[in-house]
Amino acid sequence: MLRTILLGPPGAGKGTQAAKIVEKYGIPHISTGDIFRENIKKGTELGKKAQEYMNRGELVPDDLVIEIATTRLLEDDCKNGFLLDGFPRTVYQAEKLDEFLQSHDSKIDNVIDIAVGKDELIERLTGRRVCKSCGASFHVVNIPPKQEGICDYCGGELIQRADDNLETVTNRIDVYEDQTMPLIDYYEKAGTLTHIDGSTGLDNVFADIVSALGE
Ligand code: AMP
Repeated sequence: MLRTILLGPPGAGKGTQAAKIVEKYGIPHISTGDIFRENIKKGTELGKKAQEYMNRGELVPDDLVIEIATTRLLEDDCKNGFLLDGFPRTVYQAEKLDEFLQSHDSKIDNVIDIAVGKDELIERLTGRRVCKSCGASFHVVNIPPKQEGICDYCGGELIQRADDNLETVTNRIDVYEDQTMPLIDYYEKAGTLTHIDGSTGLDNVFADIVSALGE
């Protein structure tokens, strides 16, 4: 059973690694950020509530996020494991997640913390471009698309996420340090945490994750 959390600052490469993990282990990828972005795109009430926080680089209120994440975890495809990406992000969310899992005779098996220095995070996030259609991620310098502004995979338009501008990025990293970093201690105490250096390149980071999770 693989019930896993990916922890790490914005720009650490959680989304990229998550895609590789779910492919290898056949578990669903649950990204609360993706759920909010889908809702914003569809213009739902939830999307409207989340958008103002997201555009400022602030966290969406705990109760809203917990409700969304736990509802998703009740779906059938999570019975044999799941990968949480971007949730929990506060100690309160982590406590509520533990309570929820306990009440379903479940628990978190592994927490992977991907660490990257602040300057590199800023460079990665402000240069990031994502495909409007399929969500694939590129970088203007590090992972340029074959044709500028066009997705290599589906031909969709590449855009900058509304929260990837310098001001919001800086705020998101500060919010991470204040509110999410305490989770490292929380999961260290629980004995489920593995630290991984996120600056060694995509394939090396993935190899380290696989060795932490097991083949
Ligand atoms: P992400 O795609 O994970 O970087 O999330 C983008 C934004 O969605 C964050 O900056 C928050 O505004 C919001 N968000 C996503 N997950 C959470 C969470 N667990 N708690 C609070 N806000 C969240």
